Amino acid sequence: MDLESFHRRSIDDPEQFWGEQAALIDWHAPHRKVLDCSKPPFTRWFVGGQTNLCHNAVDRHLATLAESAALHFVSTETGEQRSLSFAELHREVVRMAAIMRSQGVGRGDRVLVYMPMIPEAVFAMLACARLGAIHSVVFGGFASRSLASRIDDARPRLIVSADAGSRVGKLIAYKPLLDEAIRIASHAPEKVLMVDRGLAPIERVQGRDLDYAELREQHLDTDVPVTWLESNEVSYTLYTSGTTGTPKGVQRDVGGYAVALAASMKYIFCGNPGEAYFSSSDIGWVVGHSYIVYGPLIAGMATVLYEGTPLRPDAGILWELVERFKVTVMFSAPTAIRVLKKQDPAYLTRHDTSSLRALFLAGEPLDEPTAKWISEGLGRPVIDNYWQTETGWPILTVAHGVEKTPTRFGSPGKPMYGYDVRLLHEETGEEVGPNEKGVVAIVPPLPPGCMQTIWGDDERFVETYFTSVPGKMVYSTFDWGIRDNDGYYFILGRTDDVINVAGHRLGTREIEESISSHPAVAECAVVGVADQLKGQVAMAFAVLKDPAAAVPTEQARLALEGEIMRTVDRQLGAVARPSRVHFVTLLPKTRSGKVVRRAIQALCERRDAGDLTTLEDPSALEQVRKAVGA
Ligand code: AMP
Repeated sequence: MDLESFHRRSIDDPEQFWGEQAALIDWHAPHRKVLDCSKPPFTRWFVGGQTNLCHNAVDRHLATLAESAALHFVSTETGEQRSLSFAELHREVVRMAAIMRSQGVGRGDRVLVYMPMIPEAVFAMLACARLGAIHSVVFGGFASRSLASRIDDARPRLIVSADAGSRVGKLIAYKPLLDEAIRIASHAPEKVLMVDRGLAPIERVQGRDLDYAELREQHLDTDVPVTWLESNEVSYTLYTSGTTGTPKGVQRDVGGYAVALAASMKYIFCGNPGEAYFSSSDIGWVVGHSYIVYGPLIAGMATVLYEGTPLRPDAGILWELVERFKVTVMFSAPTAIRVLKKQDPAYLTRHDTSSLRALFLAGEPLDEPTAKWISEGLGRPVIDNYWQTETGWPILTVAHGVEKTPTRFGSPGKPMYGYDVRLLHEETGEEVGPNEKGVVAIVPPLPPGCMQTIWGDDERFVETYFTSVPGKMVYSTFDWGIRDNDGYYFILGRTDDVINVAGHRLGTREIEESISSHPAVAECAVVGVADQLKGQVAMAFAVLKDPAAAVPTEQARLALEGEIMRTVDRQLGAVARPSRVHFVTLLPKTRSGKVVRRAIQALCERRDAGDLTTLEDPSALEQVRKAVGA
């Protein structure tokens, strides 16, 4: 079937279409109704059906793939390597579930996972799924303040963590960051389960902190059956940045997510049982949830869990892993490829990558030179795919499992089955024509796998995503897009103040709040500025409470800039650190007091700042211009 008819069918008759896809996973009890969208924009999929993500990712394969590889863990940071078959993965997940259950964790309880890329993190996620507990994985690169706000929102009963992670040879001790986060959070978890890798000392809090190895010994043979869940129960929450300082807990279901992932593995990624899948993302991001943990395992594939960077021990490491595990499907981000592009191209051919069928790239725009370089170097299709934490799986791409649609440089592709994608005029809400810029929107019902709501805040879910296009209840992606005459979409950047650094989504508001917490700062503005390597970097402009006293000399200025960067490092993590902090005496604002971030951003990128007639004081923009040397 061609992609267009496949897509058409999914939109015209979603019940029939998704009813068929439901057969891709195991159900304990069948659904009564495929789709319930009686309370728009809320959507319930496979109503009444009972299933379990852990069963579908692990137990289901024991009959046919028990001895087949399920997880290959490699750390080029510590030199560890470990492979587990589905039978071994099953045993470890059951043990982890037994430990959690012994601490009172059950259906509906939240478990926060703050861990590096180690097998125990995957065990913890799957163990939660097994018990019907809701996991909330927080990216290990985030620091205390980011972690504390997520603890307060998720209110976990248990936190699972480890002594340390490592990045580019630098040890990051997690326990002190976690202890500090728990100290500043208002919610206190009952227990903290610590995995000790022997990398950093763990200071135990008596009565609260538990040792994983010790408890694992006690539960070597404890059986924990799968808890069957109604399809619309909550599987996990994953926090993502928006335009306010408070992160949003993207909430996902069980059955819809499992079906969506199984379908994407079949139609988009084309992975087969017994093969290996390698995604170089992190479990703290949505790609890690969908395409390190659940997607590949549901498809019966071995997943490669990699703690390390693309350049260590050398720029051939990603391809070496492809060779070592005979990876057939690989997923990475454009930034990683741009990093490799600066190295000797011989690294690309030093290893046997002939097992690879395709390389998928996502998370940020894929520029044409990078796409060309890697597809020519590998001699394999390079497939861009566009989606968001909110959707859980690709919105725009090509689906070679349906039809071998050619890809087009600069475009992630066409709408995927299930997504009724429209490009709408920002002010009128009307559909724009080919080659006209509009907001990328999705007409509900959102397909299976997409977010159900914002954790604990249905109103914010509706307000945030479904009210921004005038006169229409449609889901806004907050991305600009354009469609060519052949139906290929191109993504042109965000419509809001969210920025994207090396594929990591960050809210400028969160960074501004962190900078403003520095005692010398009165107010500040953060914008995303185009960067050749990382796509974007954060650039900050701060007004000091007492400019003359704080930065009397160049040396003092540099010292304060460094101090502010360290404040952000400490509170949010190094990913959020601005590349520069410029000091100005005034922020450019409209007469109504709104900081004109787009004009600041334009100047930073040496573009025209646009209409300045609404500015309160044009000299503020002059200061920005001078600061960045525009
Ligand atoms: P996240 O939720 O962190 O995955 O970030 C999602 C955002 O990243 C999207 O709204 C886009 O702005 C951007 N993005 C993701 N994938 C792509 C892509 N393939 N091309 C362009 N932008 C992308």
